Amino acid sequence: MSRSDSQGRWHNLKSEIAEALLGLLFPGPIFCAACGARLERNDEYVCSACRAQIILLSEPMCRRCGRPISYPGFCTQCCLRERSFVRSWPAAAYRGALRQCLHRFKYNYGVYLAPFLGMLLAKRLQQADGVPTDPMVVPVPLDPGRMRHRGFNQAELLASELAKIYGWRLHKKALRRIRTTLPQADLNVEERWANVSGAFAATEKLAGKEILLVDDIYTTGATAEAASQALKEAGACAVYVATVAIASSHPQGRRNKYKHK
Ligand SMILES: [Zn+2]
Ligand SMILES: [Zn+2]
Repeated sequence: MSRSDSQGRWHNLKSEIAEALLGLLFPGPIFCAACGARLERNDEYVCSACRAQIILLSEPMCRRCGRPISYPGFCTQCCLRERSFVRSWPAAAYRGALRQCLHRFKYNYGVYLAPFLGMLLAKRLQQADGVPTDPMVVPVPLDPGRMRHRGFNQAELLASELAKIYGWRLHKKALRRIRTTLPQADLNVEERWANVSGAFAATEKLAGKEILLVDDIYTTGATAEAASQALKEAGACAVYVATVAIASSHPQGRRNKYKHK
């Protein structure tokens, strides 16, 4: 065996050992993020049954918020409420496997799901009409108290994945919360609008910028509206919204659900 052959073999062995060690230190997920079943060899993040449940939304949908509707045009909420954003693109409905994944992502050590959910957003935008060609990607900021508790902002992780996939500029701190808010999930429709109204401000001038605002879930559109207003006040010429999921526009709110019990 020549000296270069043995060097080559040693090099290969070293990479194999390094790979094995990395595999031990950072093992890939072996269980489905949604149902917990053991993943098959070709599955990534979710099992094939759960993946089949996550279907990208398609027409007919509201021309403003992207909510599935049975007729062409706008949903009732978009007719009734002010919308400062041009268009919102939710990737899929907030139910079943996607709901489980988003729950794990936010509350159950599921940060590793960011690339999976970010890719879902990217695929949805790929199919959408009217997506700006080079927007500035801005995540909805998390309440500072919850940021300290959770340790990460889920919208920021999603925005970062999306910006990476499309090569768009990410501006993590373009928006900030200017007052404390309650978790939207705890509130009903009217409380949600009051809770986030005027809660955001831009951190710098955004004159002439096209912004793609990113969040995990769109429900009533109250958060998207409050954040869009702040971006427009800072000079943004157009705000678009992308979320992983869209939930019912008539949430009961966890707090209200248990209020009379
Ligand atoms: Zn599954
Ligand atoms: Zn709508």
